[in-house]
Amino acid sequence: MENIDHRNNIDMQAEIFKALDNVIGKAKKPVQLHEPFFNGREEEYAADCVRSGWVSYSGKYVENFEKMLSDFTGAKFAIATVNGTCALHLCLIVAGVKEGDEVIVPDLTFVATANAVRHCGAFANFADIDPTTLSISPSKLLAYLVEIGDIRHGECFNRKTGRRIKALVVMHTFGHCADMDPIIEICEKYKIELVEDAAQSLGSFYRGRHTGNFGKTASLSFNGNKTITTGGGGALLTNDPAIANLAKHISTTAKEAHPFEFFHDMTGYNYRMPNVNAAIGCAQMENIGGFVARKRLLAEKYAKEFAGIKGVRFFAEPDYCKSNYWLNTIIIDGNASGFRDDLILSLRKGGYMVRPAWQLMHTLPMLQDCTRMDLRVSKDLQNRIINLPSSVFLTE
Ligand SMILES: *Cc1c(COP(=O)(O)O)cnc(C)c1O
Repeated sequence: MENIDHRNNIDMQAEIFKALDNVIGKAKKPVQLHEPFFNGREEEYAADCVRSGWVSYSGKYVENFEKMLSDFTGAKFAIATVNGTCALHLCLIVAGVKEGDEVIVPDLTFVATANAVRHCGAFANFADIDPTTLSISPSKLLAYLVEIGDIRHGECFNRKTGRRIKALVVMHTFGHCADMDPIIEICEKYKIELVEDAAQSLGSFYRGRHTGNFGKTASLSFNGNKTITTGGGGALLTNDPAIANLAKHISTTAKEAHPFEFFHDMTGYNYRMPNVNAAIGCAQMENIGGFVARKRLLAEKYAKEFAGIKGVRFFAEPDYCKSNYWLNTIIIDGNASGFRDDLILSLRKGGYMVRPAWQLMHTLPMLQDCTRMDLRVSKDLQNRIINLPSSVFLTE
């Protein structure tokens, strides 16, 4: 690993500060990491819900929003939920994840990915990432499964823990696509259900196809800091009509359709998105094309500014991915521990609310009983990644 001269830290900090000034210096300080942007009919549609009284989870906006998501992503079915975490929980339930199972998830992700696994009573199994995608590394995954994967009666078991490995959740980090082709192949070979946590990748395409179309199901998030927002919200995507029906059923207290009787045939959840949230989502989806175009333009400007700065690299989309650049990312060369926090503090003091990547999942106290492969790439990169302000409105 290159050992950069940290004597020049002050110079490097100044150069990075100047790069941010050149790209987003005109924005009102502090410049947050990712703020919502409303430039369409959000107010009009939300007011329509209030006036009509259709604020809760039956109403035309929920259906419209689902149709817009399905049209935009190309997934046959979209089921809107109250947030992205419960969309992912639903994905895991319909994949058949049961108490005591294991689910492979990336070590570098937002905690919701691991939480959804826990909500099923299952154990996470943390996978390392690939430095070119920041998402699960297919080659390390395969090597790991060769070592621990034991296929019995058409199901995969972990030789070391004895648990069934029921599913794998791939997460498209910061909006960039994981390398799906080899991951799909590995999951097929090892009889593991593939789920995509596409919370960060609305508007990102892998080899021309929208993310969320590669597994059995996928989850999206419309939290306030995501590419589009509904306040809080999420959705499950699938191309399988039976899965879509089951997911919708479970998300609506598993109530059987009837004009007046309340009969529920299993323990369900109250996970449906309310109409008033979907109304805001419809207005946001009307502008999604422009949102993604502006985010890509912002990324281009950052890339140009950082190209000339030694010791730091702007993270660019892999060549098979057309990314939404949800969060722009720089990676500091060499061993940046210590230096990274100085840089973050000084940029934040200057009004740029940059932040490091999430703490790795395997370090969190409530996940200590989970298992994992060798995680050296995640550990190395976690110390060196910095996310930059990426809101849609930062470019015209
Ligand atoms: C945002 C996000 C989610 C879902 O979060 P909610 O706040 O529940 O909508 C899930 N996974 C990842 C990776 C996310 O970034």
